[in-house]
Amino acid sequence: MKTQMKSKIVFLLMLFLVVSFQPLFAKAAAETNSQNNTVTGEGQAKYVFLFIGDGMAMSQITSAEVFSTARASKDIDVTRLGFTKFPTAGLTTTHDAGTFITDSASAGTAIASGKKTLSGVINMDVNRTQKFKTIAEYAKEAGKKVGIVSTVTLNHATPASFYSKVPSRGDMYDIAVQLANSNFDYYAGGSIDQRTGKNKDQKDAVEIAKENGFTYIDTKAGFDGLKAGGGKVIAISERLQDSGSMPYSIDRERGELSLADFTKKGIELLDNPNGFFMMVEGGKIDWAGHANDAGAVIHDVLAFDEAIKTAVEFAQKHPAETLIVVTGDHETGGMAIGFAGTQYDTFFDKIALQTRSFVAFDEEVLKPYKENTPAANAKLADLIPAIKESFGIDFNSLTNVQKEQVEFAFQRSMGNEQIRSFAEDQYLLYGGYEPLTVKLTQVMNQTAGIGWTSYAHTGVPVSTFASGVHGEIFGSYYDNTDIFFKLAGAMNLKVN
Ligand SMILES: [Zn+2]
Repeated sequence: MKTQMKSKIVFLLMLFLVVSFQPLFAKAAAETNSQNNTVTGEGQAKYVFLFIGDGMAMSQITSAEVFSTARASKDIDVTRLGFTKFPTAGLTTTHDAGTFITDSASAGTAIASGKKTLSGVINMDVNRTQKFKTIAEYAKEAGKKVGIVSTVTLNHATPASFYSKVPSRGDMYDIAVQLANSNFDYYAGGSIDQRTGKNKDQKDAVEIAKENGFTYIDTKAGFDGLKAGGGKVIAISERLQDSGSMPYSIDRERGELSLADFTKKGIELLDNPNGFFMMVEGGKIDWAGHANDAGAVIHDVLAFDEAIKTAVEFAQKHPAETLIVVTGDHETGGMAIGFAGTQYDTFFDKIALQTRSFVAFDEEVLKPYKENTPAANAKLADLIPAIKESFGIDFNSLTNVQKEQVEFAFQRSMGNEQIRSFAEDQYLLYGGYEPLTVKLTQVMNQTAGIGWTSYAHTGVPVSTFASGVHGEIFGSYYDNTDIFFKLAGAMNLKVN
């Protein structure tokens, strides 16, 4: 009796332990790797491309496809982008260690290092003490050449996630110095922000890079002259736009370098018998999403697809050894195909009438007007022709509510204090943007049937597409940290 009782207690205790610890084990497994990260087939990915559309989920991708269709005809047969035709597609979670709505620092860390951290942190743990090693660093150690390309500044969160480790993404100068001291082979696209520090009193990070053997190029002529075998390179777009980034694709002038040009040059410079790893970011898809500018989003998604096509061309020459992965780090703006005012209809052909991004409208139209016009004399009528030319908006065809919204935003942009005084809803109406400009893109997007819910990121999953050797392991629904393990598996790298 006594022993029976004892064994019953032991049994219950064991049951309690198993039941209470099971969720913990299950959670750990789901968050590290686990599902289908193991490569089974033959071969090894010698040439690896990782394309990251910042702020790109299915709404951004499908909008670009609907736009391409609507521009050409009235058909509903959607014109597919190149990368959505890849043989493998999967879904990827985006939450980080502290929030369901990630930022690009923790999302970049998850993809680059396979570990969750807090928003704002790059390649360090939640306590900001332990440093993580990135897939690009593992690839470099294994003898591959490494390239980092982005349309935004090269020390912005997403590109930085592949070479730097900092407690805050705002430590721009520290990140710039880590770039200069990295032994990667090719950095290209936007400029290096705060290269002499926040107060411009530090040693120039570009000088440090040159001392470390980098060739620094910031003209198109210099870029065109770059040849394979010339050593490590930092190549910057000759014309820069907001915050030192490459211009939005919609604002790119004939002959200016595109993301595809920087990617193609990367292939040329990195190609070698040991292979390469190249990360290419479409970073301004996110910036346009923050500003609710669908036209700028769509044109940058199309430019991103063009860059991917250069990788596809390379893969056709090395089909058994190339892997191309395309993903997003999160969605931006709560973009939707569908708006209350247009119900079941879309009019994406209206987006084709847009000729300037919100940034170009601010810089080329609104800023000069504000500088030359005293607020008391300012009239919306003065800007109607420029509004039509920039966004294709026929002011007279707007609804009365929309006209009022645009007029109100115009007064707000001109600094009319009477209106400013009841500005408690300023953020909900305009985010941090120029009121007139953000209202114009919103109104124009609404008439096309596109809605927005936020000026920040949202918590929906993103899609991941893959083509080439071991691409099949990118199917199914998995955590963003799994991308690191899948890439490592495909390249046969030992990681921890
Ligand atoms: Zn963002």
